[in-house]
This record gives sequence, C-alpha cells and structure tokens, in this order.
Amino acid sequence: MHHGSPVDGRPWYLDHGILPGDGEEFLVAADRDALALTQEIFCIHGRHICLRQISQKDFAARWDKIYGQRSCEHRSRRDDRPTANGVSQTIQLCNDLLAGAVAAGASDMHWEWERDAVVVRLRVDGELRPTARLPKELGNAIAIRLKALAQLSPTEHFRPQDGRLCWQGAAGQSADFRIATLPTRWGESIAIRVLDRNRPFFRVENLAMPPSVEDGVRRIAAGGGGLFLATGPTGSGKTTTLYAILAELICRGQKKILTVEDPVEYVMEGALQVAVDLAVGRTFSTVLRAFLRHDPDVIFVGEIRDGETAEVALRAALTGHLVLATLHTATAEEALLRLTELGLDQNLLLSCLRAILCQRLLRTNCPHCREPMDHTAVPDSARAFFQKGQPTWHAMGCSRCEKKGYLGRHAIFSFQWVEDGQLSAPSLLEEGRLLLETGQLSIVEFLRQLPWDRPNNLAT
Ligand SMILES: [Zn+2]
Repeated sequence: MHHGSPVDGRPWYLDHGILPGDGEEFLVAADRDALALTQEIFCIHGRHICLRQISQKDFAARWDKIYGQRSCEHRSRRDDRPTANGVSQTIQLCNDLLAGAVAAGASDMHWEWERDAVVVRLRVDGELRPTARLPKELGNAIAIRLKALAQLSPTEHFRPQDGRLCWQGAAGQSADFRIATLPTRWGESIAIRVLDRNRPFFRVENLAMPPSVEDGVRRIAAGGGGLFLATGPTGSGKTTTLYAILAELICRGQKKILTVEDPVEYVMEGALQVAVDLAVGRTFSTVLRAFLRHDPDVIFVGEIRDGETAEVALRAALTGHLVLATLHTATAEEALLRLTELGLDQNLLLSCLRAILCQRLLRTNCPHCREPMDHTAVPDSARAFFQKGQPTWHAMGCSRCEKKGYLGRHAIFSFQWVEDGQLSAPSLLEEGRLLLETGQLSIVEFLRQLPWDRPNNLAT
C-alpha cells in the first residue's frame, strides 16, 4: 500500500490526523474514536484501513518527528470528534449543507475560498446568498468528502474535475448533485448544481407558456426535420424547454434520439446521451459527426459554440433530421447573426431553420412590499417603453422577501416561426411590458434582462 499523495506532497492521512505505522497499519492517538475514523476513511477514500491506537504522548512525539510542529497544530485545530449520533463533525456538516441547499430550493451551491476560510453561497431564484463561512481546515475536510462522494479523486487539487453525487439525507430526503471543481488562488473552488429528482419528467404543459408558444413547441415536438433553436442567457430555462420537447418525442416512441451535452444535466430514459470530454477529444463537433453515422431521427446539441458544430448541426438538419440546439444569444435576430458569423450560409440556414424560441426567467416584485413609483427613475433611452401615466412598480424589500424586493420568478417567451426566410415579429418585450403594467416586474429587472436597447426590437 502506498501512503503518500504524489500530487501536492501532502499525504491523505494527514487530513484525518493519523500516521502510517508498520506495513499496512496506521496509528492513531488513544483519545480518538478509531471505529468512527475507520468508517469515515472508508466513506471518503473507499479503503479499509487497520488502525492501531497508541498513547497520546507517543502519538504526539511520533507526529512531531515526522511532520514537525506546524502539522501538529494543524491536527489539533481540526475537530472531527464524533457528535452525539456517532458521526464526525465533517460528515454531519456536509449533510447539513446539502440538506440546506435542497430545503432552500437552491439551484446551485458555491464554495469560494478566501485566505483563511471558505464562503458557501446558495443560488436561490437566480440570486446568490451566503449561507455559511467555514474555517479552512473544516472546509478542506468537507471538500474532500464531497469529492470522494462524487467519485472524484480526493487528493487531486490541481486539475478541474467533474462528477455526480446521489445523496440520501438522514430524514429520508434525496437529491442528485453535479459537482465541478476548479483550482483557485486560495483553494479548490467547488460548484454544486442541485438536480431536482422530484422533477421526474419534463413536460411541456409544466413550462407555463402562453398558448401560442406552447402550440409552437408542440408542433416542433410532433416531429419533422429541420433546426429548432432555443436562445437566451444562462439560467433562462432554454435547456429545460428542449428537455421537455425531447420528453414528448420519447413518449411518442419510434424515434432514435441522440444528445451531446456539456455535461449531461438530466438523465433521460429513451435517449442516448453523450457528454463532451475535451480531455479525450470528445467535442461537440466530433460527437455530432459520429451521430450522423448512427442513423438518428432527433439530435439534441447542448450548445452551439463554434463554427464546426454549427456546420455539422446544419448538415444534419438539411438531411432531414430534427436538430434541437441552444444558442447563447439575447434575441432571435442575434442567433441568426451569430450563426452566419460562425460561417453558415444564410440561405441554407433559413431553408432548414423552423423556428427560434427566445426566453427569460425574470425575478418578480415581492407582492408584500411593492409600491408604485414615478417615471423619473427611467433612463431617457428606455422611455419609449413607458406610456404617459402608466404606473410602474418597485419593491423596497421586507421580511417576506428577505429584504431583496424580489419574490419568485416568471418565465416569458417569444416563439418565432421562420416563414419565407423571415422571422415572425418578436414579442419578448411585449411580454415584459405587460408584466411592468401589472406591477409584477420592476423597471430595473426589465432593463437588466430584456433586449430593449436592440434597434431591431423597437419596431414591436
Ligand atoms: Zn418584500
């Protein structure tokens, strides 16, 4: 058995306050709970170790001899004594953090390192809020456990890693998490995406779309070849929409469905999903090329980012496949522009492009503290959107919305068919204006999220 970690020179057992003994054996001080420690090490590293207890004095002397005073301080600061129910503080806190994220309805949890501490923040309704601040030692210990649970290498601190964790809470809750690590200045940053297992199936009827948009999406899901694009910024829900279309297609059966994603966010029974992996040269475009030799009916491209991917996706759509893809642009017009900038022939593109869906997830005013405001706060350039005498609302924040002024979110959509090489009129701004009038949307959120300053859209 090898005891050392070749990566950062810091052996793994140091984090547990144990030392190598003779042969396969490890040593631990008499005041530690050897059984709990053995279980924890099995939990984290997946290895059974043989622990021998020696007197505290002997252990301290041996520790100092090998690692010196500084490491000994490290060990004494680390508190992994078992709590009342026999679980170490590390395991308990790790569980509490994951349970807390699920209970808060968070979409993500972020670990951000400072010099001596890690700040844990949750993203709820699109906004980050701090939830915990942990001392460095404890933060490290929990990070190691999270990585081990996600089957990542716990001792690899220098390369980004990506994994998945199925978690079961003590109170019977469960959730799936996607875990990605990133080495940063003061420590390893971790981003945890909460994957909601209680959303067993994506359904078009659950997307709260206006009837005309839902009808358009269903017509795409009914089949037929061509390209369908969902656009919008990160977190606007475009992937969820495409998953709902895939689910409809899977439901109908009789279609071969292939997806290429970075990474695979939800496992869809009935589709063959491939994750992009740059380390082994598995890019969007190489996977797409391989797809064309697998006789698919439907292809889902997680995101079109480069010219090669755009070109293969177009070729697939031109040869009769239904290609669903997301594009990170603010408007449908910009999606067309982006694709031609990536090298696609505009006439070819328009000949197989069926429709573009543009969407936003807007934070809505807290109904408990919103109040009407006058128009002086509206910038001159945005005045075209506000009729004289039309009230606008903003929310100052109260206890119900945790002083944010926002409570909940509202999705708006613009579904544009491509007819005779033209996009039908956009309606995203109309939808936003409607929400302004009813007081659900603040001017700040309207200006922040909607493409009001694009010249193309002023005609609406
Ligand atoms: Zn409020």
